[in-house]
Amino acid sequence: MTDQFDYDLFVIGAGSGGVRAARMAASKGKKVAVAEERYLGGTCVNVGCVPKKLFVYASQFPELFHASAGFGWSVTQQPTLDWATLRDNKTAEIERLNGIYNSLIDNSGAELFDGRATIAGPHLVSVNGHNYRARTILVATGGWPYIPEFPGSEHAISSNEMFFLDDLPKAAVVVGGGYIAVEFAGILNGLGVETHLVYRGPVLLKSFDREMSEKVASGMAAKGIKIHLNTEIDQITKSGNNLSVALNTQSSLDAGLVLYATGRQANTQGLGLESTNAVVRANGAIQVDDNFATAEPSIYALGDVIDRVQLTPVAIQEAMVLVDHLYGQGLAQIDYSDIPTAVFCQPELGTVGLSEEQARAEYGEIDVYVSDFKPMLQTLGGGADRITMKLVVDSISDKVVGCHMVGEHAAEIIQGMGIALKAGATKAHFDATVGIHPSAAEEFVTMRDKAR
Ligand code: NDP
Repeated sequence: MTDQFDYDLFVIGAGSGGVRAARMAASKGKKVAVAEERYLGGTCVNVGCVPKKLFVYASQFPELFHASAGFGWSVTQQPTLDWATLRDNKTAEIERLNGIYNSLIDNSGAELFDGRATIAGPHLVSVNGHNYRARTILVATGGWPYIPEFPGSEHAISSNEMFFLDDLPKAAVVVGGGYIAVEFAGILNGLGVETHLVYRGPVLLKSFDREMSEKVASGMAAKGIKIHLNTEIDQITKSGNNLSVALNTQSSLDAGLVLYATGRQANTQGLGLESTNAVVRANGAIQVDDNFATAEPSIYALGDVIDRVQLTPVAIQEAMVLVDHLYGQGLAQIDYSDIPTAVFCQPELGTVGLSEEQARAEYGEIDVYVSDFKPMLQTLGGGADRITMKLVVDSISDKVVGCHMVGEHAAEIIQGMGIALKAGATKAHFDATVGIHPSAAEEFVTMRDKAR
């Protein structure tokens, strides 16, 4: 590094992508700074994936208590939930992870600034009243929940607040039809809250395989979630602790909490990008090329702030590709196809590759295999849960182009299927694979009859 710069790389935002980029760059001998104004680990660790999954586990116990009776157990007292214990144990675990992130940054040799950083020029970062000159600046500031404005919208909360509620309400209204809405609807319902899910469109999880989205919706409804499709909220009025939610269907819902899970927007406001040539799209996301470069040669961006795929493991891969581009051989490339993903709604949805609809549009001739069955736990457990699995195959090449599952352990199972699809597995490869018996996953290698 020349004396001209204080740092080779200044990373703004210590979330999944920012921290990975900082550590990798530091491991290559670069002088690196990271600034974080809020919490180490970003959305995923603090108000996203990790605490959400802990809440999902918590919300699944009532069904397990119920199922245990068929296996001979008697739970002699009605189990009760102490919300404060769950919330505070979760917070303690997140604080432990914050500490780990701190050590990771420390041990990598990167310097951590606790404060809000802004960009003051193509090579200038301002934090805690000082300006630092950086050869390269990486913006990894993530996203923030978006709540539309309407009468009473100030009474709605976002997923951020869900992790720190003082009390659980008796009833809740969740708005949206995407990942966060369906996941929190499942959590609240499982924790014993009367849950209404209000979505403006006709189908929840509309970007997923339609048959699977419908299975999720019917499974959620079977668990007691009241789903209001094609419905919008006109107004929220508060009196005391009660929120009255007026719907455009001329009816209303009473709740103690209204959660808006209506998308997330890139965190670029007030960042100072206007002091550079970097281009910000209408939705606030930063425009970058294949190497995550903005229109300002010294400034790069990745993760949720570029709004390509808002998933933690994608941000981490983007960080590895960027560091290879900046300080390595420059050969690494990110492939956004066949990204396995799971929605931790209840029932759970896991998916990789193309939906049936996408595959039909892309390949024309496809074979579809579907299996729908009762999971073994429910034979004695007596629950209503089912599992649905689906393979979408290109008829000409025999390649499996889509793999979908609704039901218990979908995320765990689809991760492995992701490798198979990445490797270009054909249906013949699936058929030649020996199943693990008894498991739900074996169904993926024993489907012989085409559904369509
Ligand atoms: P999504 O983009 O997935 O869903 C937003 C939902 O809000 C859509 O159903 C959308 O409806 C609806 N919506 C948007 N604007 C309005 C409005 N003005 N009024 C009413 N409804 C509205 O966003 P999320 O907030 O659920 O999640 C953000 C991202 O975070 C996800 O896309 C995902 O990438 C990531 N995530 C991943 C998780 C995982 O991996 N398990 C978990 C949680 C989040 P419409 O479809 O009609 O536009």
